[in-house]
Amino acid sequence: MKLSQLFTKTLREAPKDEVSVNARLLARAGFIQKLSSGVYSFLPLGFRVLRKIEAIIREEMNKIGGQEILMPALHPKEIWEETGRWDSADYLYKIKDRQEKEWALGATHEEVVTDIARRYINSYKDLPLAIYQIQTKFRDEMRAKSGLLRGKEFSMKDLYSFHADEEDRKKYYDKVKQSYLNILKRCGFEDVRVAEASGGSFSKEYSHEFQVPTEAGEDLIMFCAKCDFSQNKEICDLRAGAQCPNCGEKLKEEKTIEVGNIFILGKRYSEPMGLTFSDKNGNKKSVIMSCYGLGPSRLMGAIVEVYNDDKGIIWPEEVAPFKVLIVDVAEKNDTAEKLYQDLQEAGAEVLYDDRADKSAGEKFADADLLGIPWRIVVSKKTISERKFELKKRREKGTKLIDKKELLKKLT
Ligand code: ATP
Ligand code: MG
Repeated sequence: MKLSQLFTKTLREAPKDEVSVNARLLARAGFIQKLSSGVYSFLPLGFRVLRKIEAIIREEMNKIGGQEILMPALHPKEIWEETGRWDSADYLYKIKDRQEKEWALGATHEEVVTDIARRYINSYKDLPLAIYQIQTKFRDEMRAKSGLLRGKEFSMKDLYSFHADEEDRKKYYDKVKQSYLNILKRCGFEDVRVAEASGGSFSKEYSHEFQVPTEAGEDLIMFCAKCDFSQNKEICDLRAGAQCPNCGEKLKEEKTIEVGNIFILGKRYSEPMGLTFSDKNGNKKSVIMSCYGLGPSRLMGAIVEVYNDDKGIIWPEEVAPFKVLIVDVAEKNDTAEKLYQDLQEAGAEVLYDDRADKSAGEKFADADLLGIPWRIVVSKKTISERKFELKKRREKGTKLIDKKELLKKLT
């Protein structure tokens, strides 16, 4: 893509009403635009990042046998009444239509997915089953000042699993845990903690939160640097300096962003909604469930919170909107244009800053702000040497290399 064709423009200043680092940088770079507090449009560059994150999640979900579906965002009141959550879920957006019929905007989909499952699961032979979707969720969030970290409208991948017994449920739960760690690693996170947290209204047992350490985090966890013990501060009565219940090491405390959360549901939904199966002996039993949430839009915000500097965003390669940015500062020369064609033909995702009305300084500043992992500069000097200047966004040094080497490195 050519930058001269991109309809979004970078901003010198962040919008005054944005306080979070992720929203300030993403808005300045033209990745997102706020419509209202907690409600954002994803512009071309931002949409590409979101799609990349979703693609990673989709791939990993399919690997563990998840079957992808798409459920409605508009839910009739009756389905939420079946579990008693119409009255208890205070974050539900409720609406009335012209015929006075009441609806909720989907905040989560346990009721809807259980309704689907009860039509298809009859026998133990239909189990286990894992169904997921990637979809827009709506929640009446009180605090929506954290940009993509807390939207009133946001994207979620929600997976639901159905089992004949607790042993099978646990086995799959552990598989999903590992899958989440793979996803987060591919999204660029080197440091992820799996924290025990309250099971919420769902269960007496712990749920597990996937926590990314950063100062911008709204969560506080206690963790052990020696073993993998970690607990959300909200539920634990351990203090920093206390001993790790696993290994005795001194516990530490840190701020984190919760990017994923997985829950044991047991019979919480299957019992009230009549989701049963016949076991081998013909006995009717309630299906055992778990659910697993992960937020692509929150992940995008979290990546920006973790990977940035005073100049802009530093995208990890697998989620970057483009792999390479060509910055053309040589006047009246087609070297950059040719390189753009060659890189594209070789299969690289290239953004090409071909803008004629921008100074070299402005182009370099935008390159840093946009955060594309590799930058190639084409200048009079590099042309005279028959080379290209290559730089990694997250490193300081530059390197002069020839085209053959360049194509080999970037494709
Ligand atoms: P939090 O405690 O941060 O409010 P939650 O525990 O209510 O989140 P879950 O219901 O567990 O969230 O949702 C699963 C995942 O969906 C979260 O881990 C997060 O990645 C994402 N998510 C939840 N709420 C939001 C939101 N308001 N904006 C963006 N992403 C969200
Ligand atoms: Mg949660």
